[in-house]
Amino acid sequence: MYALLLALLAVVLSGVAPRVMARLVSFRRAPRAALVAWQAVSLSAVLAALLAAPAAVPYLGGGPPGWLACSSLDPCDATIWWIENRRWVVLGVAASVSLLVLGRLLLSGHRIGTRLRSARARHRELVDVLAEPGSASQADGIRVLDHATPTAYCLPGRRSRVVLTEGALAALPGDELDAVLAHERAHLRGRHDLLLEYFTVLHHSVPDPVRSPEALREVRLLIEALADRSAVRASGAVATARALLTLARGQAPESSLGAAGDGTTAARMRLLAEDSLPVPTVAVMYLYAVAVVVLPLALVWLAWR
Ligand SMILES: [Zn+2]
Repeated sequence: MYALLLALLAVVLSGVAPRVMARLVSFRRAPRAALVAWQAVSLSAVLAALLAAPAAVPYLGGGPPGWLACSSLDPCDATIWWIENRRWVVLGVAASVSLLVLGRLLLSGHRIGTRLRSARARHRELVDVLAEPGSASQADGIRVLDHATPTAYCLPGRRSRVVLTEGALAALPGDELDAVLAHERAHLRGRHDLLLEYFTVLHHSVPDPVRSPEALREVRLLIEALADRSAVRASGAVATARALLTLARGQAPESSLGAAGDGTTAARMRLLAEDSLPVPTVAVMYLYAVAVVVLPLALVWLAWR
C-alpha cells in the first residue's frame, strides 16, 4: 500500500507536478521561494523513487500460510523456500532498484558536471588570452572581449569571470552596466550554476516519458529572474529592462550564465514590471516545499512502523 503510494508519488512529482508548476507563472514573482519549491519537488521525487521498493518489504510475511497442504507426493519444497525467504528476495530486488536509481543519478551527475567544468575551464583560458590587455578591471575577474555584439555573461567556478564585450560597454550607460554587473555577480555569489546543474542532472536521470523540458526552462527563467532582482536593487527596474533589451541580441555560451539573449528576455521584462508576491503567499510556497519533502519520509515511516 505505502510502496504503491511512494511509486505513484515518484511518478506524479517527476512527471505531473513539474508540468503544473511550470504553468503557475505567478510563482515567478517570488523566484527564490519558487526555486526552493522546485528543489523540494525534485528531491522528493528522488526520495520517493528510492524508498518505494523498501517500503514494500514489511508487508511480506515470513512463515508458510495455513492453506499450504504438502504431502510425501508433493513436498512443495520450492514453495516453502519462497514463502520463507521472499522477504529477503524482495529486499534484495528493492535494494538493487534503489541502487540503480542512485547509480543513474550519480553517473548522470558525474558526466554533466565533468563536461560543464571542462567546457568552462577551456572557455576561461580562452577568455583570459583574448581579453583586452589594458582592461582596468582584470583584478575583479572582469574580462572585456573585442567584439561588437553587446554580450555579457559569467563563467562560474573557483576562478570565476564576468565577460563583457566592447559592444556591451559601448551600448550600456553607467547605470545599465551596473545592473548587468550586479546580475552576473548575483549568479556567481549564489552559485546559480550549481542549482542549474542539479536540475539538469535530475532532468537527464528520469526516463524520457516522465521527463519534462518545461521544468528545466522554468528553473532557468527563475534563476535569471532571481539575478534580475539584484540588478534592480543596484540600478532600478527601468535601467535593468533597458540593459536586457540591449543585450537581447547577444548570445552567451552554453556553459555560462548570461545576462540576456537566452530566450527568456520577454518573460523577464514582464516580471520587472510586476510586484512581488505578498508575504503570506510566499510563506505558503515555503510550507508547500517542506510538506513535499516530508511526504515520502512520512510514507516510509508509516510502512515500517
Ligand atoms: Zn543571467
